[in-house]
Amino acid sequence: MRVAIAGAGLAGLSCAKYLTDLGYTPIVLESRDVLGGLVAAWKDNDGDWYETGLHVFFGAYPNMLQLFKELKIEDRLQWKQHTMIFNQPDKPGTYSRFDFPNLPAPLNGIMAILRNNDMLSWGEKIELAKGLVPAMLRGQKYVDSTDKYTFSEWLKQQGVGDDVEQGIFIAAAKSLNFIDPSEISALVLLTALSRFLQQKNGSQVAFLDGSPTERLCQPMVDYITARGGEVRTKAPLKEILLNEDGSVRGFSIGGNESSNEVVTADLYVSAMPVDIMKVMLPAAWKQKEFFQKLDGLEGVPVINIHLWFDRKLTDIDNLLFSRSKLLSVYADMSNTCKEYANPDRSMLELVFAPAKDWINKSEEEILKATLVELETLFPQHFVGENPAKLLKYKIVKTPRSVYTATPGRQKYRPTQVTPISNFYLAGSYTMQPFLGSMEGAVLSGKLTAQAINAQAHLEANASSKPTQTLQPATNAATA
Ligand SMILES: Cc1cc2nc3c(=O)[nH]c(=O)nc-3n(C[C@H](O)[C@H](O)[C@H](O)COP(=O)(O)OP(=O)(O)OC[C@H]3O[C@@H](n4cnc5c(N)ncnc54)[C@H](O)[C@@H]3O)c2cc1C
Repeated sequence: MRVAIAGAGLAGLSCAKYLTDLGYTPIVLESRDVLGGLVAAWKDNDGDWYETGLHVFFGAYPNMLQLFKELKIEDRLQWKQHTMIFNQPDKPGTYSRFDFPNLPAPLNGIMAILRNNDMLSWGEKIELAKGLVPAMLRGQKYVDSTDKYTFSEWLKQQGVGDDVEQGIFIAAAKSLNFIDPSEISALVLLTALSRFLQQKNGSQVAFLDGSPTERLCQPMVDYITARGGEVRTKAPLKEILLNEDGSVRGFSIGGNESSNEVVTADLYVSAMPVDIMKVMLPAAWKQKEFFQKLDGLEGVPVINIHLWFDRKLTDIDNLLFSRSKLLSVYADMSNTCKEYANPDRSMLELVFAPAKDWINKSEEEILKATLVELETLFPQHFVGENPAKLLKYKIVKTPRSVYTATPGRQKYRPTQVTPISNFYLAGSYTMQPFLGSMEGAVLSGKLTAQAINAQAHLEANASSKPTQTLQPATNAATA
């Protein structure tokens, strides 16, 4: 059975990969000339990579880790020491660490918090424990019920003060959805915290050993094509063509300026971002409540910055939380990533967030503001007679990235199965428990493949043909 999938981000590629495992023939149609969507990367004229986003993989990503195993590329994940490292704006040039000892969860997390004396006073530790621990014990149902509050509101209800919010959770909220605690849904932070506290290696991070396009997306494409599937770039979906009954007749593909091609298949999947899907909705579907709900979702702006310096600014081989006003997480990729390695010079990759007031500003303005923030983080490298010199930079703006996870968004997130009999959705914005993440994208694609197969199963049962099955990974099985 042939399945046409629009979008070769992680969700579209994962959907195609799992469909081939189940005996289907996917054809993936990607609008751009590069694979990966939000994980896409490019090489500059010097052969240096730059990316849409700084990406880390977590121990609490069962479906992603299983995918690496299935593709036989597990050795490409470079696991880092299990620690969380924060800059200390009030002590420029220094870091504060939450080191997770080799103990079972949640003991390792509790020890990490108890042993950190730079960022939390004993009073704040008790305050935080009193607020968080009961919430974690109340389980996922309780966490789901917190989608009506911002994280700031939720912290206040638990009696956790502003200092803890400022000290830790601004950095955490920005790293998860590129917005502040006063905007992000409590559900997002509590979901992440409960995974991190319940799984021994849940918050341990890995960096890929090179660009996601080459080191993760390409092996997915190789896997798909080796099993009869197809992945086409520069093949943008222009229009979803319908039959009279409202089902999909074909995908009209642009690409070649002069000619439009219609790709037909037995089934169709959109793995495009929600903002594009909304624009692409056929008029006949706009009346359906299922599709109207998509109006409640919108991508959040974010900016990814790459700075190449003439020397090393840090030797830390891990993710760093800047705790600065304009920046979120960052890493010195010359330390963290094998293919970007340089023993003499730093290449900082920094996420600039919240970006809504900056996304339309010029690169020069964004660079200038970033350098001012860096000077406060690393004053030792920027003052004196021989300050660090910026050799070059690259800025990648994404005006609409993952869905903005403000309170109340959960009810707008669609299932992978739609009311249209031969049309499905995939994408990290669709309903799955890992929110707007790479794990969420991979899982959504797998769930779509599963839903397609379940439908075929039903039809095959009617005609008693055998079918294969597929299961999402759980942490118990893989982490
Ligand atoms: C700066 C940044 C940092 C991030 N950091 C992390 C991290 O550290 N860890 C983590 O887990 N997640 C992170 N994420 C989130 C993660 O990248 C996304 O959740 C995930 O990649 C989304 O995948 P997707 O397939 O759902 O969507 P997308 O990646 O948006 O893929 C959609 C695809 O559809 C294509 N498309 C669009 N229009 C058309 C059309 N008309 N026809 C055909 N194709 C079309 C697009 O080009 C794209 O390839 C980060 C994201 C950003 C932006």
